Amino acid sequence: MDSDDFRKYGHEVVEWIARYYETIEKYPVKSPVKPGSIKAQLPDNPPHMAESFEEFMKDFDNVIIPGITHWQSPDFFAYFPANNSFPSILGEMLTAALGAQCMLWETSPAAAELEEQMMIWFREMTGLPDYFEGVIQDSASSATLAALITARERVTAFKSNSDGLSASPILRVYCSSQTHSSVDKGAGIAGIGRRNVVKVKVRDDYSLDPAALREAIDADIQKGYTPCCVVATIGTTGVTAIDPLKEIGEICCEKGIWLHVDGALGGTALLLPEMRWMTEGIEYVDSMVINPHKWMFTNFDCTVYFVRDAASLIKTFEILPDYLKTRTRGVVNDYRDWGIPLGRRFRALKLWAVIRGFGVEGLQSKIREHMRLASLLKEWIEQRDDFEILAPVRLNTVCFRYKPEKFPESGLNNLNEKLNHTLNDTGRMYLTHTTVEGKYALRMVTAQTNVTENHVQNAWKLICETALSISSENGTINIH
Ligand SMILES: *Cc1c(COP(=O)(O)O)cnc(C)c1O
Repeated sequence: MDSDDFRKYGHEVVEWIARYYETIEKYPVKSPVKPGSIKAQLPDNPPHMAESFEEFMKDFDNVIIPGITHWQSPDFFAYFPANNSFPSILGEMLTAALGAQCMLWETSPAAAELEEQMMIWFREMTGLPDYFEGVIQDSASSATLAALITARERVTAFKSNSDGLSASPILRVYCSSQTHSSVDKGAGIAGIGRRNVVKVKVRDDYSLDPAALREAIDADIQKGYTPCCVVATIGTTGVTAIDPLKEIGEICCEKGIWLHVDGALGGTALLLPEMRWMTEGIEYVDSMVINPHKWMFTNFDCTVYFVRDAASLIKTFEILPDYLKTRTRGVVNDYRDWGIPLGRRFRALKLWAVIRGFGVEGLQSKIREHMRLASLLKEWIEQRDDFEILAPVRLNTVCFRYKPEKFPESGLNNLNEKLNHTLNDTGRMYLTHTTVEGKYALRMVTAQTNVTENHVQNAWKLICETALSISSENGTINIH
């Protein structure tokens, strides 16, 4: 492909993208294909001779698109969003064009310095303290792993990287029972051991119970274990519970334990001054992660990771073979020292495009609207006797279930599971579930970039109609 071909096909691809967004609501939101059906359409062997881009696009349309779940559809209410936006796509296209490897300042000074400045903007936009220093990483899972490894190094006097953990005492990590699985995964990879992640019980609103945390830590110290890190969450994945940072932080401060905050989704709400109560106690926080690739319209991947003490982070991750030594070392930020991979994509560019493309005000009004939609949906649910809310609505997520009158409690999980699948099979909306105290909960997240009140209203109407129709199909409901 030469540059003339590239220009031609490039325009076609941009046209394809614009049309896709204009017509996205026509696709079934959740891909209906059966396992193996996409692979069966792909050739057994790679082409020996070059093929045309037309043929590639034909297969993209006919083979790939039917197997895509449309995360950018405003009828997507599942999981947490992986939002995108036009400025972000354009920024990502330019990143792909440059193809720069942003591991060191010298390997692209503009990438390092833009990243540094974006982290300053982001810190200011979210009201975080000015001593926090930030870095962009690929995912919240990686950032949390970096936090656990740094906490591990600090508590072992920076010896575990060199000596391994065999000589150290048993390290313990604490988080609530609602915490994201990336903490278990990270503790395993960091050599702390998944078994040493203590799941602390939660209060009525599903936030971590600080009294129970204190008890767990004291009991561990009694047994000779070494507390290493507490992970608090603002916006848990199941029900978006918000852990009380101040009370947790006071315990961490007293006991000298690293406090990491997982704000993968909820951190974006800090753009709103009225939501900054969530970070009361931030003075105790050692590190924090927020995913602009979830709720801030920046396409995957873009995670921001803030630390109080960048020196500890760098001391944990820097490694200096000769071929990476530069004359600017120590004068500039070499972000390869701030996380796990050496190679790094130029992710700051799309974040810059998004922040400039929306403006802080534009970002705030979307986030505010998404939260308003969740409250509105909650009101609609509460107005009906045959539905119930299962957890407080804090951000953009509503957990509820269908509970028709006189229906036995023992059959409700199956009924709601059936309702969930039936709704998703319509292709008109997509929602997922969680379990709240053993109850199968439908979970609707009203935070897709382009979602409007109309979309939520249509979804709610569909949910009510579908619920009525499946509960009236006598005999088809399997009651255990
Ligand atoms: C989504 C999520 C994660 C994991 O995010 P990745 O960027 O996909 O690793 C971690 N914590 C919480 C609370 C999440 O919602």
